[in-house]
Amino acid sequence: MITTTLRSVPGVLARTDRRPRTEHVVLGPEGVRFPGGRRADQVDEDGILWRPWTGPDTGPVLWNRFDDERQRELLDRLLCAHCGREPDRTEAGMLWLLPATEAFTSGRDALTTIPPICRPHADRALALCPELGQGHTAVRVRRSDRWGVRGTVHHPDGTRTDEDVPFTDPMRIRRTVAHQLIRRLWDSVPSVPDRPLHEEVL
Ligand SMILES: [Zn+2]
Repeated sequence: MITTTLRSVPGVLARTDRRPRTEHVVLGPEGVRFPGGRRADQVDEDGILWRPWTGPDTGPVLWNRFDDERQRELLDRLLCAHCGREPDRTEAGMLWLLPATEAFTSGRDALTTIPPICRPHADRALALCPELGQGHTAVRVRRSDRWGVRGTVHHPDGTRTDEDVPFTDPMRIRRTVAHQLIRRLWDSVPSVPDRPLHEEVL
């Protein structure tokens, strides 16, 4: 359940007293699991195991880290990264603010872990977020879909690697403890490239 509505800082960001819960991971024939089996509250409808988080969520905000549980829900449901409400949407598509470093996979498609954003909070994010302040791209997107997960892949030889794993790779997905959801943004267009975002006519 999203509880970010009244937050004065972006709800997708982690707080200092929230952290991933340390779990021993077992790799079996069916893939990764925590001790005791693959419980329904740990595995989603696609059979993917998600790393749980814990903590009271009242501490200072970490501007360089997402709260993975909130990131997953906001990006999955396409809700504003700050308030958890409907993001801004025009005929050109839904609004995303991406750091200048965000990878565009080909042409105007991009893979991102960042949820979309509403207009008031886009302006606020540009004013407050250090990473976006170093350069950003405002884009509008008519179509996006769930591409895969960012997580830790457990290999049969006992090693682990942090990777972005697509849903089209079921063998690897089964060996992954997922941290964050990744969406593909299709055919993004600049959000009024010649004017600052706050001057865009709605
Ligand atoms: Zn918002």
